[in-house]
Amino acid sequence: MITTINISESFLYNHGLRKKHAEQYQLTQKNIEKIKRIAFKKILYPEYKEAYDYIDDLFPAVNIKNIAIHKVAARDLAKMGYSGAEGFYDPVSKVVVLSGAHRSPACVDRDYRVEAKVSNDEVIVHELCHYCYVSEGHRSISSEMREEFAYGWSIGYLRQKDYSDEYIIKYNFLPYLVGVCQNKAMKKVLGQNGISPAQYDSFSRFKKKEFNRTYGKKIFLLSKEMAMEKGQQLIDLYSKKLEEGGYTDIEEDGDRYSMMSF
Ligand SMILES: [Zn+2]
Repeated sequence: MITTINISESFLYNHGLRKKHAEQYQLTQKNIEKIKRIAFKKILYPEYKEAYDYIDDLFPAVNIKNIAIHKVAARDLAKMGYSGAEGFYDPVSKVVVLSGAHRSPACVDRDYRVEAKVSNDEVIVHELCHYCYVSEGHRSISSEMREEFAYGWSIGYLRQKDYSDEYIIKYNFLPYLVGVCQNKAMKKVLGQNGISPAQYDSFSRFKKKEFNRTYGKKIFLLSKEMAMEKGQQLIDLYSKKLEEGGYTDIEEDGDRYSMMSF
């Protein structure tokens, strides 16, 4: 999934976001049925030819050109709980979804916003990478592994568009990576204040709020800094793989931890 996120004070306060995602997943199959019904467009090859061709070159065994993409209005996706999502892939139904244009929300905290700047073809490449991950027989339950694969193998396409590494990290990777890094950033700032995560958890609601009011910005900036670093590591790793001739089906996700997990 490529998404724009807002890390607000309440977000920092509430570490339950990942759990919410898990619960969300239960609803997915119901939502996918609905998405298929309300999609206002079905994208098929040769539309977005460059995107399909790039994926087809990388994963020739998948026959990606036969895969349709369902384009759904952003407001309809938001109603189903996918607000901010530019697109996503559901490995159970094998449905690829692209969001229509987003309208900028009126009341967001700009200070805590990390906005993705991705065009439809870039979202399609990312989501088709997810499709290929599953088709190639990978079964990692770690979302970090799956995202690393999709963000990583997109790099060749983004370079084809003459984007600099910095641009790729900032506008394609960062919203995701900031989310990945924020727990570690939070722990670090707690540590700097002599507070253990367990102590923080035992804080009253008021005390937590106060802590986040004081340190929220610092945590956010630190998350961003860590995310930029992770992004560069991702670029280095996958540039090397692309130079070595691209994806090979012997690639395993078994013993290796994702470089993005902590
Ligand atoms: Zn993704």
